[in-house]
Amino acid sequence: METLRTLPGDDIRAIMWRYSQRFDLQMLVQSVRSAARGPVAQAVANGARNSHEWTEDKSRLLAAFDESGITTLFMDPEHGGYIEGPKNLALAIAAFELSWVDGGAATCSLAGNLALEPIHERGTEEQKRHYMSGAVPPQPGENRTILRGAFGLTEPLPYVGVETGMLAGRVRIANWEESKEPILQVDKRGRFITNMDFANFVCAAVESDDPRIKGSCMIIVEETDPGVFDRGAPTLKLVHQLSSTRDPILNLQVPAHRIIGGYTVQDGIIIPNFSHGEVIEAVFKRTRVTVGLMTAAKLLSAIEPIIRYQRSRFRGGDLEPGSPRYEIGIQQKEDALHRTAAIWAMGEAAASFGFEGARVFDELAPLETAKFVLFEKQGIRGGRTEFKALKAKENDAIEYIQLKAKGSASTRLAELESDPLVRYVAVDALANVLCPAVKLWNTGNGATTMREAVSLMGGYGITEDCPGFLGQKWMDTQLEATYEGPEAVQRRQLSVTLTSPVFLTYYQNWIDELKHIAQTRPQTGAAALAAGLELWRFTYEFLQNSKDANGQKLWGSARQGVTFPMADAFCWLTAAVHFVRDVVELADQGADNPMIAEGLEGTLGFYADLCHIQSARAVGEAARICTEIFFGYDVTARPETEFFTLRAHAEKLASGAGHAKDRAGHALTQVMIPEALDYPL
Ligand SMILES: Cc1cc2nc3c(=O)[nH]c(=O)nc-3n(C[C@H](O)[C@H](O)[C@H](O)COP(=O)(O)OP(=O)(O)OC[C@H]3O[C@@H](n4cnc5c(N)ncnc54)[C@H](O)[C@@H]3O)c2cc1C
Repeated sequence: METLRTLPGDDIRAIMWRYSQRFDLQMLVQSVRSAARGPVAQAVANGARNSHEWTEDKSRLLAAFDESGITTLFMDPEHGGYIEGPKNLALAIAAFELSWVDGGAATCSLAGNLALEPIHERGTEEQKRHYMSGAVPPQPGENRTILRGAFGLTEPLPYVGVETGMLAGRVRIANWEESKEPILQVDKRGRFITNMDFANFVCAAVESDDPRIKGSCMIIVEETDPGVFDRGAPTLKLVHQLSSTRDPILNLQVPAHRIIGGYTVQDGIIIPNFSHGEVIEAVFKRTRVTVGLMTAAKLLSAIEPIIRYQRSRFRGGDLEPGSPRYEIGIQQKEDALHRTAAIWAMGEAAASFGFEGARVFDELAPLETAKFVLFEKQGIRGGRTEFKALKAKENDAIEYIQLKAKGSASTRLAELESDPLVRYVAVDALANVLCPAVKLWNTGNGATTMREAVSLMGGYGITEDCPGFLGQKWMDTQLEATYEGPEAVQRRQLSVTLTSPVFLTYYQNWIDELKHIAQTRPQTGAAALAAGLELWRFTYEFLQNSKDANGQKLWGSARQGVTFPMADAFCWLTAAVHFVRDVVELADQGADNPMIAEGLEGTLGFYADLCHIQSARAVGEAARICTEIFFGYDVTARPETEFFTLRAHAEKLASGAGHAKDRAGHALTQVMIPEALDYPL
């Protein structure tokens, strides 16, 4: 039987992750990859990670990012960028490629974007023009210093961390002369602020300490502003050593136009147009998906070094070529093969999940702009009025999602589609789930799975010279699970966004789609996954409508013990759904693509097996969690029989996953890998 011939190349990835029609993104992959597998890999191999300080070696990476276009990637063409339109997918690809080698290098590059995000999302036109254009590396003949930023939210204990509202950073009026622009005193201490070694501006979250300023805001402070711009002590990190992290002390005077998004003055009071909460919500909504993809890249990057290690483990002694021990080494052992396949399946699911998240945010971006424009005309901005206006579109959005899933054109669909608010409400509900879900599942389970990867390399795994830097990647993954909001933040957000009826319409569509896929491609485990989703929904609905023996609602913010594990169960299933969808896409599109036609049958068979492995795992994890929660609280009137029926059904449908593991394991013994890793040891 035909099996996997080579490791999947870029042509296959471009189809699965849906950029085969985007030549610009295919070019991007190549340019970022050469920076990652060139200077970044070299820096790691040279031991650049062995210092907390910002060294020359690390600093050179900034120049490499500038030269390869990574720095400019974030910018729109009007500010000197080269990619038109939304760039979530593009940034995700860049982060993926960099993290394939080193997560710290990816963070270093991404943190610059994170600093620009508040300005990009909520800044005034003038702020955008100045900071975005300034962040483009100077062209030959241009005499200016590039602007590099830091995002300053987290504060020393006991202030901002998970709880972003507990601000100690303050803003006051230093000087406000009649008919002149107010000068503000900004006092902010940061903890763990990335890029602080070289940032020449910081977007800082602060709260008013002055009756003449309302609420909170994010404000830009620059290195050359009068006052203290102390970069602070370096963070003694165990991870991501190729990024710079320090605890800065900032106490500076800045003109009021540095308030991100601007302000108005009413009755002698400065009213920022956006609170710090509104700005960071808009920022994290986008950037977290990218972090999830960093972990996905690490998992997938581990496969080739593991296979190479396993195969060559016993070569070099008296052993003759040709014997199984010489040719495939540890791959003679079932456990080693099954575990490698399971890691691979996790990596694929994480990547599929993350790239879908990035694409959804690209879809959302123009709709959000349209919403802004529309609401501005109607004098609606934020708060209850906006909430009500959007709520009024919910039923239409649900209908739109349902009609769109049917795939056939109709007048009603066209009518709904022509209303940007309807589309906004639809896509936003999905984005609000995918963002925390990708961040949560990819990074948290990714960290655990990286440990598995490390263990397959034996002692080598926990040395600095482990091929593929797997040990470092394992540790680094824990930071990805922590920064931009640890897992608790993502679970908390999911426990709210999952309940949206608009989102639950997509959920139903996934079930229908999987059942459909199960008819033509049963080997993917799609039927089990559909049943798993039904079991989760049954449990969820039960929790929504039940109270414990003390009369406490089971699905509520006070019940993290219920909602958080349910969020985890949801993510297991959903990540697997997106993997199956990408494999179906590969099957549908691949046949017509001459670049991948050769060997496609084997690749698809192998991928179907990985899907089955992942689907069975996801169903198992979700069923375990649902059972614990369903029976975990002392509630009366539990519809037990139905629960058991659904659970048994889901688990039974996952049958055959063992055979899938055997086949995938066999494929791992056959697949061709390059002679040597494509970056230095
Ligand atoms: C290397 C590095 C780089 C960073 N870069 C930046 C940066 O550039 N800019 C920036 O602003 N920040 C940055 N951070 C900060 C990072 O975002 C925070 O560390 C993170 O958000 C968590 O905050 P905390 O460490 O204060 O954790 P805490 O708030 O102390 O939370 C600790 C743990 O307590 C539990 N917990 C807390 N609150 C809740 C709750 N409500 N419900 C349930 N459980 C809860 C969770 O398990 C959580 O993980 C960086 C951090 C590191 C380590």
